[in-house]
Amino acid sequence: MLVGVPKEIKNREYRVGLTPASARELIGHGHDVVVETDAGAAIGFTNDMYEAAGATIAPNAADVFARADMIVKVKEPQAVECEMLREDQILYTYLHLAPDPAQTQGLIKSGCIAIAYETVTDNYGGLPLLAPMSEVAGRMSIQAGAHALEMSQGGRGVLLGGVPGTAPAKVTIIGGGVVGTNAAHMAVGLGADVTILDRSIRRMQQLDDIFRGRVKTVYSTQDAVEEHVLASDLTVGAVLIPGAAAPKLVSRNQVSAMMRGSVLVDVAIDQGGCFETSKATTHENPTYVVDEVVHYCVANMPGGVARTSTLALNNATLPHAVAIANKGWKKALSDDRHLLNGLNVYKGDITYEAVARDQNLAY
Ligand code: NAD
Repeated sequence: MLVGVPKEIKNREYRVGLTPASARELIGHGHDVVVETDAGAAIGFTNDMYEAAGATIAPNAADVFARADMIVKVKEPQAVECEMLREDQILYTYLHLAPDPAQTQGLIKSGCIAIAYETVTDNYGGLPLLAPMSEVAGRMSIQAGAHALEMSQGGRGVLLGGVPGTAPAKVTIIGGGVVGTNAAHMAVGLGADVTILDRSIRRMQQLDDIFRGRVKTVYSTQDAVEEHVLASDLTVGAVLIPGAAAPKLVSRNQVSAMMRGSVLVDVAIDQGGCFETSKATTHENPTYVVDEVVHYCVANMPGGVARTSTLALNNATLPHAVAIANKGWKKALSDDRHLLNGLNVYKGDITYEAVARDQNLAY
């Protein structure tokens, strides 16, 4: 199979669908890989590295789309990319189709076979191709929060771990899933005083096992959220209710009552955010201040560390890419119900119920 990797064209997207090592892996399985020129250059994956791995370099995206049997990307195809997709071509990437009728129509019209990273499942009830980005965002949330706590950023001038003789910062993490657990690892590593709020008792039991007394777990009620947020230097919003907008767990009045210079990092902003005062920001302008509380609400946090994110994403996506290339899409999908769950659009039809429902389309 000929696997094609176009350069990402979404604004400030530096990740790339395949690393040179992933290209080499596919080539080792007997496939060909064509990569658009400079597709990975921004994060240190040069054309020479792809060529050394055995790939060929295409001069532009049109060439990649025209030749490849399978397109491997990171972000959802933009309008001009949808137009280049061909009937029967496999598209393997993040799609996030439900709120995006224009892209949905573009994919339907193309006749392609679109497999969305974000709906591929695993045996543990998780979303394994989404998890690496949650790991990145969770870890970054503490880095971002620590920086925002500095005076120059409007923060209250608190060092997360303190130093001997001073109390560490209080960090509250609301939601102890993938983001929350990774945030906790970083906060604990820096020596902060960490509390995780969750609604799942089972999850709190697991967290208790993982952290062995190094973090406190608290059942998430309105009361507990208020008590902990008002006492914290840094609060991380990391909740998820699958398929729904994030619940607003901290009200505008509660934000006003927070300590001056304390920090809110709303990782759940990509689902609308869990603080009433949250609005999406960018890496260029990541923070703003409401009632002297610093807010960090970057909607695509992994993009800020595009090299790490690409490597982590490839670890998760490559095995399926190899399976699709080796077996062909038909057998790869029928052999693996978890990969089949990733199929969102099949030759003009929507094959993912939530997308069809949200857009009133036939399923
Ligand atoms: P997850 O499903 O692993 O964890 C979510 C946790 O929230 C679960 O443990 C759940 O029990 C808990 N929860 C639900 N309602 C709660 C409540 N009222 N109080 C406390 N806890 C509650 O999800 P995840 O992968 O950790 O993702 C968390 C959020 O981060 C999602 O909204 C996801 O889209 C977002 N995210 C954002 C970025 C970004 O760049 N901003 C990147 C990755 C993920």
